[in-house]
Amino acid sequence: MEFLFGSKDCCHEKVPVDADVTYCPDCGELIENQWYLTRCSCCGVKLQSMIKNGQIVPQEKFCHNCGAHEFVVERVPKINFIDINYAVLIKTVVPNEYKEFTQSWTDAARTCSDTPKLLRQFR
Ligand SMILES: [Zn+2]
Ligand SMILES: [Zn+2]
Repeated sequence: MEFLFGSKDCCHEKVPVDADVTYCPDCGELIENQWYLTRCSCCGVKLQSMIKNGQIVPQEKFCHNCGAHEFVVERVPKINFIDINYAVLIKTVVPNEYKEFTQSWTDAARTCSDTPKLLRQFR
């Protein structure tokens, strides 16, 4: 499971599921909770979803309503208590632009402690 969504060591388990975007208390990454559900592509009924081999798929192999085998994956912009029964949650690391501040702060701190000679050159 740990290789599926690009997380290295941390599964971001402590990220609360009701937050949209928040920092993981374990690894400090900015995490976005993304909800997805599957729908029958024929009749549009919601299907209970799960993650299998890194893909979002319906739990049943065919639609319980019309019997079709095709489905579509749909992003749920705001989860509610009805959809939560159908949806799967993927905790996604938000890339660079949002965490640039954190990034440069970390780099600056490292420069200060590890390489004081470099700092002197800038004065
Ligand atoms: Zn984490
Ligand atoms: Zn259907």
